[in-house]
Parts: sequence; C-alpha cells; structure tokens
Amino acid sequence: MQSERRRIAVLGSTGSIGRQTLDVVRAYPDRFEVVALAARSNVALLAEQAREFAPQLVVCTGDSPDLQRQLDDTLPGCLRGLDALTTAATHPAVEMVVAATSGLVGVPSTLAAIRAGKTIALANKETLVMAGHQVMAEARSRGVAILPVDSEHNALWQCLRGERSSEVRRLLITASGGPFRQRTLDEMRNVTPAQALAHPTWRMGPKVTIDSATLMNKGLEVIEAHWLYDMPYDKIAVVVQPQSIIHSMVEYRDDSIKMQASIPSMRLPIQYALSYPDRLEREGTALAQPLRWGEIKQLDFDEADLERFPCLRLAYEAGRAGGSAPAALVGADETAVNLFLSGAIHFTDIAIVVERTLERHNIIANPDVEAVQAVSVWAQAEAARVAEELRGAPVPLSHVDE
Ligand code: NDP
Ligand code: MG
Repeated sequence: MQSERRRIAVLGSTGSIGRQTLDVVRAYPDRFEVVALAARSNVALLAEQAREFAPQLVVCTGDSPDLQRQLDDTLPGCLRGLDALTTAATHPAVEMVVAATSGLVGVPSTLAAIRAGKTIALANKETLVMAGHQVMAEARSRGVAILPVDSEHNALWQCLRGERSSEVRRLLITASGGPFRQRTLDEMRNVTPAQALAHPTWRMGPKVTIDSATLMNKGLEVIEAHWLYDMPYDKIAVVVQPQSIIHSMVEYRDDSIKMQASIPSMRLPIQYALSYPDRLEREGTALAQPLRWGEIKQLDFDEADLERFPCLRLAYEAGRAGGSAPAALVGADETAVNLFLSGAIHFTDIAIVVERTLERHNIIANPDVEAVQAVSVWAQAEAARVAEELRGAPVPLSHVDE
C-alpha cells in the first residue's frame, strides 16, 4: 500500500552505492518510494533514474556550463547547486536519507537531515571519520538513528542486535587484506596502480580500492566503528578474512563470538538498513544471492599486520589522537592515493606521505564542520608538498585536488 512505503532520498544516486540502493528499491516497489534523488555530474543517468522513479525532487550540484546545458535539455525542473543537497535531505516527505555521496560534501547535508529528524542510512565514510563527534552528538540529542550501510558496520549492527553493549568485549572488523595480503613491504614498493586496483573480492571505485590495498580503508572503518558503537579503540580489532564472507564479528565477555556471513555484495547491507527492523524475503527477487556452503571451500582468518600495513596503524593513531587528526588523515590520504594512481609516488609512499603530513598537523581539539573541512583541505596540499620532498621534484598540481 502506498502509505506504508518508506520514503527515501538518495544522495549520490548515480554512484556505486546509489545505484545499488535503487536496485533494492526496484526489487521491493511496494516497500520503498524514492522522494528525492541527488547527484553531481552524471546527468544522463540521473535523468534516467528520474524517469524510472518519478521522485518529487531531483538535485544536480555540478555547475559547469556544459552540465547546465545538459540539465536544461533533460532535467529542466531539477534543483541546482550544493545547497540543494540539503533541500533534498530535509524535504518534508522524506523519512530516510541514504547518504551515499563521496567525499566531504555529504557532511553538511547529513547534519541537516539529522536536525530535521530524518533516519540516516549512512554510506559516506568521511561523515563519521571527520565529524563523528558532532554527527553522533546531534543524532543522540534528536533521537535520530544512524544506520550503517558499510558492510562491516552493518555486520556489527546485526551481531549486536538484541545484546547488551556492556557485555561486548571487542568488535572484530574483518578485512579481505587486499591484493597484497601476503607481500612484504619491500615487495609492495613497486606494485603498479593496475595491480593495486585488482581487488580480490569487492568491486568498488578506485579510491576505496586503493584504500583497501593499503588497509587505510579498514583504518577509517575502525574510526567509524568507534563513533557508531561508542567503543574505545582498544576494544576494536581488525581480523583478516580473505574470502570476504564474514563481514565482521562481535566477541562477548563469555568468549562467544557472533559473526555475520553472506556473499560479498553491498546490496544486502543496503537492503538491511533500508528495511530495518524488518528482514525482507529475497527468494524470487533479482537480489537473491544465498550463500552455498558447499561452494565455499574454506574460510581463513589472520591477524592484521600493522607493520606491513602502516596506514592501519596511522588510522588508529589519528583516531586515538582525536579532534581534527582524522580529518588530516583523510585529506593526506586523498592526495597520496591520487598521486599513486597517477604514477607520481610508490605504493609504499602513500603511508609515508600520510605519516609526515600528520606529524606537521597541529590538532584542533573539538573542531566544527568548517574546521574539519579546512584541516582536510590543508592536509591535501601539505601531502602534495611532502610528496615533492620525497620525490625531490615538484608534483603536478592537477594531481592534488579531487
Ligand atoms: P561513487 O564515486 O561511485 O559515487 C559517488 C556519488 O556521489 C555519485 O552519485 C556522485 O555523483 C555523487 N557526488 C559526488 N560529489 C557530489 C556532490 N558534490 N554533490 C552531489 N553528489 C555528489 O562512490 P561510492 O558509491 O563508491 O561511495 C559513496 C560513499 O560510500 C563513499 O564515501 C564511500 O567511501 C562509501 N562506501 C562505498 C562502498 C562501496 O562499495 N562502493 C562501501 C562502503 C562505503 P556523480 O557521479 O553524478 O558525479
Ligand atoms: Mg567496508
């Protein structure tokens, strides 16, 4: 029935998470209704999505003249400009906001949605890594739920359901270990971007794929878990699980461990967040992907190695330091990954660039959103300078910004 459908806004609808969110909506048309769609530059796909889902509001934030012409032709009624993201996130008809834009841009619109009392299905990493203190405080004071879409946090959430947090000993976040799981640091030095982009189990965008190869992605997830579950860093561990079947685990004080398992696909955690507290029948839908134990030859587990994967260590250090340190981590990593992808620095230089940038950062204790954004921008530029020093040559500026 129309009135029972959950009304959602998808911010970043043309991206990997956004498209998979719409796959879930498409599979359960009687459960979800798309009220708003927002993206930046992919006008053709946004227009196609608008035709299919007929939302009340479409937002496009890109501002190039060429894009404006495309919008005039295909989506004349859409709202334009960055502020329109917040309009979509706070639209009166919206119940749940799927926060799936990449980068920093998602933070203000997510905060505005929380203040407007919307439930948040959160994919965007920067929001919690950089502004976790503010986002969680706002959500708590307004009684707003932040439902994690990222597979690891979604798995933790499923394992924590029905349990008491006082009985949790540790959160165990699983990592595939990436393509270089078994290499030494020396062997990793000269790996190419193509090798680093060949993730063994997940298909994702280039930035998050490189972050998975360095384990920076896991480090960011540790920081997110700290905020989401109010857990100190020494109670959050990383466990390597190369098959990416176990998406995370919770260890309880009686030595019991709960794990969440499924075929690696973001559609399941997205679906769980969208339909919570219900679990929707998948058999007979286009999403069905049951795990067949007979096809899984084995499940391996290993401890994460902070020496071979210094980015994971740096993320723990930035998380523990708190304040603006995680924002500096994110900014420095952004630049370092871009420089590696463009061939300007070695794979192992990513951690060196991030570490030296963090050493030069004067941490701000309780930064507001503007301050974390400023720190991240500073760290992007500083990381480029560090890379220049490493290489002994200037880094082309086109590689510095997003
Ligand atoms: P993509 O790069 O595939 O998509 C990003 C989306 O955000 C696109 O729709 C893009 O629009 C939109 N966007 C970017 N900037 C703006 C802006 N200024 N205004 C409006 N829309 C904007 O990213 P992913 O979907 O992979 O990831 C999204 C977030 O989720 C990231 O923070 C990522 O770390 C996190 N995440 C992703 C996972 C994955 O499996 N992909 C897993 C867990 C977390 P357009 O394309 O039109 O320019
Ligand atoms: Mg993840």
